[in-house]
Amino acid sequence: MEMSITIEKVVDAVELGEGPHWDVTSQKLYYVDINGQKIMRLDPTTGKVNYAYMKDGHVGVVVPVEGTKDKLIAGVGRNVVLVSWDGESNNDNPPIKVLASLDTDRTDTRINDGKCDPAGRFWAGTMGLEVNSTIEPNRGALYLIDSDSSVKKVLSPVSISNGLTWNLQKDVMYYIDSMTRQVSAYDYNNADGSITNKRVIFDIKSNNIEGLPDGMTNDADGNLWVALFNGKAVIQIDPKRGKLLRKIELPVDRITSVAFGGPQLDTLYVTSAYVGMTAEQRKLKPDSGALYSIKGLGVKGCPPNNFKYHILQ
Ligand code: ZN
Repeated sequence: MEMSITIEKVVDAVELGEGPHWDVTSQKLYYVDINGQKIMRLDPTTGKVNYAYMKDGHVGVVVPVEGTKDKLIAGVGRNVVLVSWDGESNNDNPPIKVLASLDTDRTDTRINDGKCDPAGRFWAGTMGLEVNSTIEPNRGALYLIDSDSSVKKVLSPVSISNGLTWNLQKDVMYYIDSMTRQVSAYDYNNADGSITNKRVIFDIKSNNIEGLPDGMTNDADGNLWVALFNGKAVIQIDPKRGKLLRKIELPVDRITSVAFGGPQLDTLYVTSAYVGMTAEQRKLKPDSGALYSIKGLGVKGCPPNNFKYHILQ
């Protein structure tokens, strides 16, 4: 089954592109430039990209609020905030409301990757701040933010929280702490959001694959797609057998995250980064940090979960 796969650069480089999320309602792709403190929104039919600048800090993640056209939930610094932005034009100071604060016992972390579960609860993880290109391990945690903005610390410690996704049957959660170089699975209870029975389902190192596992999604066949930071590729994994199915090489090294989008949910959007690269390295690969689309994979994604914020219901 050899498909004709096409890889295309869709948007020019940002420093640390991350967290792509396809909004089914508007048919737009949201993602973030973490270090640029921007929420980005791409209209794939016109190629136009607008941004909202978050003056309060790094933007780790953004997810639309269910049933709204101009409300987003985002991780900014260590705060989970509600952002009012319709995405139709650039905005350097959109109105925000702080819903919750994470890692309240420390100041040396920030929110990194996050996602909503099938019940619409928001999961967000944290990581240590990068100092001189190093990230101290075990400073972060994984949190669950419910529709009433209540916060529960679910996993701790975590080094670089990433790669959340849930299976179609809504009984397994997949998770990545990048520094472990492993993809893990948990039994997941959709009624209360609890996770139990951790097992490692794929080990990047023992499979002789380069890079750190970063963002992750799953396709409608139940297989996982994992971005490889410093691995120049995304990989498709069968989580049940713990087997590598495919490795798709990209023209840049620092691949950060993946999400299916497009009208048929059959385009894989891939974010990347140039953070930490020298001027020399960037000259050789000027598209480091670009947003890519991969078509012709022969698989479809699952409709992404939005945040169910009860105040708005
Ligand atoms: Zn990430």
